[in-house]
Amino acid sequence: MSLTEFQSIRDFFSKQSMQRTDVELGIGDDCALLSVPENKVLAISVDVLVKGVHFPEQTSAEDIGYKSLAVSLSDLAAMGAEPAWFTLAITSPYMDEDWLNKFCQGLFGLANRYNVQLIGGDTTTGPLVVTIQVGGYVAKNHALRRGGAKAGDLVYVTGTIGEAGLGLKILQGNLQLPDQYIHLSEKLIERLNRPIPRVEIGKALLGTATAAIDVSDGVAADLNHILEMSHVGARLEVGKLPVSECFPEIFEQAGGWEQALAAGDDYELLFTAPEGSEGDLQQIAEEYNCNITCIGQIEEQLGLRCYSGTNILTLQSMGYEHFRES
Ligand code: ADP
Ligand code: MG
Repeated sequence: MSLTEFQSIRDFFSKQSMQRTDVELGIGDDCALLSVPENKVLAISVDVLVKGVHFPEQTSAEDIGYKSLAVSLSDLAAMGAEPAWFTLAITSPYMDEDWLNKFCQGLFGLANRYNVQLIGGDTTTGPLVVTIQVGGYVAKNHALRRGGAKAGDLVYVTGTIGEAGLGLKILQGNLQLPDQYIHLSEKLIERLNRPIPRVEIGKALLGTATAAIDVSDGVAADLNHILEMSHVGARLEVGKLPVSECFPEIFEQAGGWEQALAAGDDYELLFTAPEGSEGDLQQIAEEYNCNITCIGQIEEQLGLRCYSGTNILTLQSMGYEHFRES
């Protein structure tokens, strides 16, 4: 059954159980009212997800709900901020009850895991677009920023890289995994539809990492953002990239190192830390049960240099960019 704007708000969007005490007023008035903890600053970010651009047409309602929030939480993670609340602007051709039910399951399932509260939004008719703005808190002058990398720092990445991109290729029918890896298909597609925002690790990196970003556009493009903001360069050793176990076997078909460096949507954290941080990082990796891999080093010479052993690689693409003709 299709619902009206106000029915959707009343029966679905305002149904999340209260997760927090710092929300003075949630959904229902002209604005939400929030109290900000003392000595903290508010970290805010917004992301727009457009059907067919940010998620394939056939993506389930539950995965759309999950992913829309996950990518925004990932931005807070990359600043080391503690997530607190979010707003939801949803545009859809119609508000199907069954679709909304599943969308909210995905959305609130993730929201409740991180105690973030939906505090308001907007509901309109049009092609399917989901916009989520998140807010969180981080100690004054402590946030992980893109501009803090120093020559000599090591470059690290959490988890694995390029798996969401492989998942997308499988969904598009552009990649056939060999028989011995066929069991990985589901996991790779899940990496695309259900990215894990590295919120706890982001917070744990405060005080250790000198710069950080989440990998949404690909390692090469996102590392470049750090390099530009920090006025430094880097050398990256592609052989060290933590790729999927099936990657060596499908290397050519999957697009070689280019794919590992340019594939987006992994939402891992890419960060720099001074030499001597290895012990701290090892401890964080163990505590949160997530690999942290050193993939390169910051240098004074500007630009990104990718090495495969002693060979320097020339990249055709630096990752996805809207409005660029490919
Ligand atoms: P206004 O016209 O004043 O902008 P609306 O009628 O759009 O208010 O919304 C009524 C209330 O419902 C507001 O508190 C708004 O924040 C909330 N709301 C509307 N759409 C959503 C949504 N998709 N998710 C959460 N809250 C929503
Ligand atoms: Mg409105």
